[in-house]
Amino acid sequence: MSPFGIMSLSIFLLFCCIGLFSLFIDYSMSGYMRAQEEEYARAKARSAAQFVQALAGDLSSPHTQKRVNQERFLPLQSEIGRLAENVGSRITIISESGIVLADSDMSVYQLLNADNHAERSEVRAALETGTGVSERSSPTLGVDYLYYAVRFERAGETLISRVAVDLESLYLQQTRLRQLLTIGMVFGIALVGLITFSLARALARSVEHSRKRLEARVTERTATLRQLQELGTLLAVCNSLSEASEVLAVQLPQLPPGTRGALSLMNNSRDMMIVEQEWGGRWTKGSFVSPGSCWSLRKNSMHWSEDNSLVCDHLKDEADKDVLCVPLIAQGDILGVIHLCQKAGGAFGNMELEIAQAISKEAAIALSNLNLRETLEQQALHDPLTGLHNRRFLEEKFDTFIEKATRADQNFWLLVVDIDHFKTYNDKYGHDAGDFVLVELATLFRKSIRNSFTACRLGGEEFALLLPDLDEAKALEFAEQLRRSVENMRLRFEGQPLGQITISGGLAGFPKDGSNLSSILRPADERLYHAKGLGRNRICKDLLVDELTDPRFSQPAKTAQRH
Ligand code: GH3
Ligand code: MG
Ligand code: MG
Repeated sequence: MSPFGIMSLSIFLLFCCIGLFSLFIDYSMSGYMRAQEEEYARAKARSAAQFVQALAGDLSSPHTQKRVNQERFLPLQSEIGRLAENVGSRITIISESGIVLADSDMSVYQLLNADNHAERSEVRAALETGTGVSERSSPTLGVDYLYYAVRFERAGETLISRVAVDLESLYLQQTRLRQLLTIGMVFGIALVGLITFSLARALARSVEHSRKRLEARVTERTATLRQLQELGTLLAVCNSLSEASEVLAVQLPQLPPGTRGALSLMNNSRDMMIVEQEWGGRWTKGSFVSPGSCWSLRKNSMHWSEDNSLVCDHLKDEADKDVLCVPLIAQGDILGVIHLCQKAGGAFGNMELEIAQAISKEAAIALSNLNLRETLEQQALHDPLTGLHNRRFLEEKFDTFIEKATRADQNFWLLVVDIDHFKTYNDKYGHDAGDFVLVELATLFRKSIRNSFTACRLGGEEFALLLPDLDEAKALEFAEQLRRSVENMRLRFEGQPLGQITISGGLAGFPKDGSNLSSILRPADERLYHAKGLGRNRICKDLLVDELTDPRFSQPAKTAQRH
C-alpha cells in the first residue's frame, strides 16, 4: 500500500475513533450535567423545605382550593416567591393531598385554579419514598422542566417541596457542548490529517530517497561487478606480467572509484617490490617496498595504515600515512602489493574494502599464473647451464627476425660458432671445467652483443648468434672481434689456470643465403665445418679460403677449398 493509501486509511480510522469518542463524551457529559441538575434541584428542594419548616404561623391548607383562606395562604406564596428569586428556580409547595399551596411562578389566580398535583409522578414518588424526580413539559407554563420533589413534615402536616429546573438551559449547555465537540473533532481530524499528511509525505520522500539510493547502489554495484569481470577477463588473456601490470594500472583507478594508488611487484631476486604502475597522480610513498616492511604481506590480509594504528614500515616517514595495502599472494607466494588511498583523504567504506579484496584475489591468481607461465617459457626457451636462449627459441623465433628484417629492408646474419677441440679440453681439465668454460663463453657473448642481437646455445659446445641490421662486412667484423675475444680469454677454474679456448664460426645471412632457418643454418654449418677444415679458430663467410679471417692460414686467399 502506498504512503497515501496508508494515510487515507489512518484518517478514516481516526475519524471513526474521534466520532466514537465524541459520542461517548457527549453521552457522559449529558449524563453528568443531568445528574448535576438533579443534585442542584434536590439541594434547592431541601432548602425550600427547611425554609418552609422555619416559617412561623399555621400553614395548614384547606382541603379544597375553593376553601383556601387567602389571608393565611398569601404570605407563604410571597415568601416562596422571594426564595425562588434567590435560588433561581421555580419552587412549589404542595400539600399531602396534592393542593398547590404556593408556587413561585404562578399568579394568585393561577394558584387558586391550579390542578391537583397528587397524581404528578414526582409528587407521588416523594410521598411514597421521600423524594421524586420527573421530567416533562409544564402544562401550566409550557416549558420543559425537571421536577424534584422532597417530602417534609411541618407542624404534624406532610408537605411536598418541589423545585422545577428549567431544562432549556441544560439543553442549551448540551447543544454548546456538542458544538464544541464537533468543532474539536473537526479541528482534531484536520490537525491529525495534516500531521498524517505531512508524515506520509515525509515518509514517501524518505522511501523514494531510499529507493533511489538503493537503485544507485545496485547500479554502482553492477558496474563494479562488470568492471571486476572485465578485469578478470583481461588478466586471463594477458601474455606477460608487464601486460598484466598495465591492465591493473588501467582498471584499478575505477575499482574502487575515487582512489589513487600504486602497484608494486616483486623483483626477480625476490627481495624487494618495485612500484610498476601508479594512478591518480604520482605515487610518492616509496618506490621500493621490502616484503618485511608491509603488514599486509606479513599477515596475508589487507592492512589499513593510519596515524593512530599500526603503520607499515614503508610508510613510517610519510606525512600522510592513510594507505590501504592489499597483498597479492597466491599459494603462499608473495607477488606484490596494491597501495590505495582515497583522493579526498579518509578511510575506505565496506564496499571499497570488499572490492579491494576481490581485486587482490583476482590479480594474485592471474599474476601467479603469468609468473608460472613465464617461468615455464623461460625454461622452455633457455639453456639451463648458460642462461642463453636454446635451439627451440631459435626455431620458434627465427621467422620473426626474418619478418622484421624484411619489413625494415635490412640484412640479417646468423653466426654459428663451435668450440675447437672441446672434447680434448674436457678430457684434460674435466667436465666441470668444461661447463665453466661454456658459462664464461656465454657471459662473453652476452657482453659482446648489442641489444638487438641474440645469442643461443644450439647444443653441446655449439652456439648461434643472430645479428640483424648489419652489412656483410660489419657482420664479419663482429664475428672476427668475437673470435679474438675468445682467443684472448684467460680462464681459471678452482684456482687452476685453464688452457686457451678458440672458436670456429660460419656466417650465413638473409636474404643472401635464404629466407628461413634451415636454408640459412645449412650454409652457416657448412661454413663452420669449412672453418674447422681450414684449421679452426677462424670465421668463414663462404666456402672459399679467406686469408683475412685466418691470419695463420698460408694458402692464397682466392683459392677455393671445398669439404
Ligand atoms: P671440434 O674442434 O671438431 O669441434 O672438436 P670437438 O672435440 O670440440 O668436437 P666433438 O664433437 O668431437 O666433441 C664435442 C665435445 O663437447 C664432446 C663433449 O665432451 C663436449 N661437450 C658437449 N656438451 C658439453 C657440456 O655440456 N659440458 C661439457 N663439459 N662438455 C660438453
Ligand atoms: Mg667442437
Ligand atoms: Mg661440436
